[in-house]
Amino acid sequence: MNRFSYTRATAVPQAIDQHRANATAAFIAGGTNLVDLLREDVTHPAVLVDINRLPLRRIEATDAGGLKIGALVTNSALAYDDTVAARYPLLAKAILAGASAQIRNVATVGGNLLQRTRCHYFYDAGTPCNKREPGTGCPALAGVNRIHAILGASEQCIAVHPSDMCVALAALDATVHVAGSGNGTRTLPFADFHRLPGDTPHIDSNLRDDELITAIELPEEGFAAHHAYVKVRDRASYAFALVSAAVGLELDGDTIVNAHCALGGVAHKPWRDPEAEAVLRGKRLEAAVVRDFAAMLLRGAQARRDNAFKIELAARVIARAFELAAQRSFEEAAS
Ligand SMILES: Cc1cc2nc3c(=O)[nH]c(=O)nc-3n(C[C@H](O)[C@H](O)[C@H](O)COP(=O)(O)OP(=O)(O)OC[C@H]3O[C@@H](n4cnc5c(N)ncnc54)[C@H](O)[C@@H]3O)c2cc1C
Repeated sequence: MNRFSYTRATAVPQAIDQHRANATAAFIAGGTNLVDLLREDVTHPAVLVDINRLPLRRIEATDAGGLKIGALVTNSALAYDDTVAARYPLLAKAILAGASAQIRNVATVGGNLLQRTRCHYFYDAGTPCNKREPGTGCPALAGVNRIHAILGASEQCIAVHPSDMCVALAALDATVHVAGSGNGTRTLPFADFHRLPGDTPHIDSNLRDDELITAIELPEEGFAAHHAYVKVRDRASYAFALVSAAVGLELDGDTIVNAHCALGGVAHKPWRDPEAEAVLRGKRLEAAVVRDFAAMLLRGAQARRDNAFKIELAARVIARAFELAAQRSFEEAAS
């Protein structure tokens, strides 16, 4: 039996203190991932610190022209927020491509960032797993690895981050606000929040042990005019991405002024390459240019036994996402 005690916090410093008091404590928000992990015997926190009463459910404008989203805003509330739908539709679409309406109604922004991988071996407590129990091995390397990483993996772990929302947040250049003990706060650029597995695959993010996510901040640019989220999965709904792409474009006619592209389902974190994006600036948006970009973004991709298809699929998903993002303006101009 997985025994734990339960405590409830009403203020951020109190939640952090309660969490710090026990080395294996875990915050619980919507519980849609954590409760599964408890049930499957994957994680064994001695204390659950319920953060649902913290005042972190607001979505508010920032002085910089962007949006600050509290960590406890639910995925549904965020996707259907009027400002998000109008100014950050890429984020709304990515959220609505994930999970189910029931799950999105309770799943929170903070929990979405910190949801664990969907690797079969990670969830099977009867098998070794370096992410679950460091040093025990990674059966996915030579096992069933159709859903696993093609980029940024290590010989310790080839798991992927499963979130849709995070792929959009990466493309949008979001910032993560966190609070730690002693009233300390800091921000992390989204690109630095999640980690590649390296030789510490049990650590998913750069959040410190005593830290709580308090908010996500979006910059002013939301790519509302030219964006697309394309998700390819085994079922039409209620399935995690095999490959997904979030694309935001700033165009001057058919010339690319700025392009952001993040991939999901391919690595331990949303995959983005600012160097490859820089090459796009000033180029005409045409198929050959996007093909070259995809090749650059996917350079170094490594196939395992079952997932070679992801490399070609990723190139096609990128092509489709750019095509849809560009078309959007033509559709709107025609209507
Ligand atoms: C059947 C199913 C299908 C799904 N399909 C998809 C999908 O297609 N796409 C997708 O993106 N997601 C999918 N999800 C995942 C879902 O989006 C996540 O479970 C959810 O976002 C987690 O949020 P939560 O609030 O429930 O987190 P919880 O389960 O409460 O917590 C998850 C983790 O985050 C930590 N945590 C939570 N909040 C904070 C905070 N503020 N600061 C620090 N740590 C925190 C917890 O300690 C825990 O480790 C699916 C889930 C299920 C069960």
